Amino acid sequence: MMTPPKRDGIGDWCYPALCLPLLAAWLCGSSLAHAATPFDLVIQNGRVIDPESQLDAVRSVGIRDGQVAAISDKPLDAAQVIDAAGLVVSPGFINLHSHSAAEAGYRLELLDGVTTVLELEAGTFPIARFGQQLGDAPLTHFGASVGHAWIRMLVVDPQALSDIAATGKVDISGRAFTQSATVEQRAQIRSMIEQELLAGGLGIGLLLDYMTRAVDDAERDMVFAVAAQHEVPVFVHVRRGIDGDPTGLDEVIAAAELTGAAVHICHLNASAMSGVTQWLDKIDAARARGVDVTTEMYPWTAGSAMISSDVFSRDWRTIFSIDYADVQWAETGEWLTQERFAHYRQTRPGGQTVHHYIDASWNQAALSRNHVMVASDAMPLMNYDRKVVPNGAGTSSRVLGHYVREQKWLTLSDAIARLSLLPARRMAPFAPAFARKGRIQVGADADLVIFDPQTVSARATYLEPFLAPTGIHSVVVAGRVSVQHGQMLDTAGVGTQITSLTP
Ligand SMILES: [Zn+2]
Repeated sequence: MMTPPKRDGIGDWCYPALCLPLLAAWLCGSSLAHAATPFDLVIQNGRVIDPESQLDAVRSVGIRDGQVAAISDKPLDAAQVIDAAGLVVSPGFINLHSHSAAEAGYRLELLDGVTTVLELEAGTFPIARFGQQLGDAPLTHFGASVGHAWIRMLVVDPQALSDIAATGKVDISGRAFTQSATVEQRAQIRSMIEQELLAGGLGIGLLLDYMTRAVDDAERDMVFAVAAQHEVPVFVHVRRGIDGDPTGLDEVIAAAELTGAAVHICHLNASAMSGVTQWLDKIDAARARGVDVTTEMYPWTAGSAMISSDVFSRDWRTIFSIDYADVQWAETGEWLTQERFAHYRQTRPGGQTVHHYIDASWNQAALSRNHVMVASDAMPLMNYDRKVVPNGAGTSSRVLGHYVREQKWLTLSDAIARLSLLPARRMAPFAPAFARKGRIQVGADADLVIFDPQTVSARATYLEPFLAPTGIHSVVVAGRVSVQHGQMLDTAGVGTQITSLTP
C-alpha cells in the first residue's frame, strides 16, 4: 500500500480527517438514495474503481452539486445519465507535473483524463496570477507551487524576466542561472518565497539542474528550511550527473533530512536513467528513516529540447549515454548525424529536437515500487505549431493501455492509484482540497474519468504528439461532463485554481 508522510500520522488506507466526514456522508447518502433524491448526473452501470476503499464493482454513481452524492448497486435517476456499462469509472487523474501552461495544453490533458493539472516542478510567480492564461473558464482544475526560479530571476536579474516576456524563451545562460546570490539577495528570495506560500502556493518548485552553477549550498538549504517551516514539500528537478550518478539525489535527501522538509523528486526515470533501481533503494532507505520523500515517473522514453539549448552545450552524449543517431529533428522526424546536427544548430537554433535516452526497462523498474506516482512532464503548449514530446496528450492513456493491458506491469487499480489517489495523498496534508480528490466516495469531488479498459490507448507519438487518446469515453470535471465519446463538449470549462488556502 501507499505510505506518504509519516509526520502526519497518516495511515495506509485513508486520512482520518477525510474518512470520518466521508463515512458520515456515506451513511446519510445510503438512506437518501432510497428517497429518490434527484441527482444532476448519474453514471450508470460502470465498473467503479476506487483504490482507497478498494471498491471494484459495478455501481451507479449519483452526482449532485459537483460532488459524489451516492454510490449504489441499484440504478439511480437523474436528468442526465451516462451509460457506462462495460467501462471503468475512475477518479479523475491528478497530474503533479505539467508545464502545459495554456488552453492548448490543458485541452490535451483533459482528453487524457486529467482533471487537475499542477505545475509543481517549475512553479509560478505570483501565485495569484497563475491561471490567467487559461481564460475565464479553465478546462480543468489547476494549481502551482511557488517557483524559486522565477523569484530568483526577479531578485538577481530582473531583466531576464522582461526578456522572457518579450521573446517567450528562457535564457539560462543569464545571471539568474549562473550567478550565486549575495546574502542580501538570498534573504530577499526567502522573503518572497514566504509571501507566496502565505498566498497559497502549493509547495516550492526548485530547478536545481538548470541552476547548477548558481544555487550554492546556502541557498539550497534556505529553500528547504522555508519549506520545513511552512510544512510544504520542495518539488525538485535534481542536478543531473553522468548517467545514473546519484549525487543530485543524495544532495536533496540530505537537505530534506537536515531541515525536516518534505521533498518530491520529479521525473525519476529521466533523472536517474540507468540508476533507477539504485535511486529507488536510496529513496526507500530514506523513507524508512522517516524522511518524507516521494517521486514520480513519466511513461515515455525521450526528452525534448531546442537544438540550441543548454542541454546540448554540455557533454550530452556522455551524460545521456546516447549519440547523434538517438536525436530526432522533431519537425520531420529525421534522425540526425553529427553533420546534420551541426547544420540545424547553426541554421535553425530555435528548432525542436527529441532525444531518445530512456530505456523502457527503467520505466518498468520505476513502477515496480508501489509508491511511485505517474506525472506527464508535459511541455509548454501555447498552440500546436511546435512539435514536442507526446507526454501531454498521452500519459494516462499510455499507462492504462500499454503498461496495464499490454505489458501487464501493474494492475488497473494500481495504475489508477498512481494517477489519482497517490498524488492526492501527497498534496492533502498541506492543501486540504486534495482530501476530496483522487477518490470515488460519497462527499468526494465529482472529478471522474470513464474509459474502456479493452481499448484505452495513447495515439500520440513523437511524430504526431498532439493526437488525443482512444478509449477515454467521458471526463467529468466538478460534476459536469466536459468530454463525451472522446470529444470535447462545446462548453466552457469549470476548473478552479487550487491553493493551500482552498477549503
Ligand atoms: Zn524537469
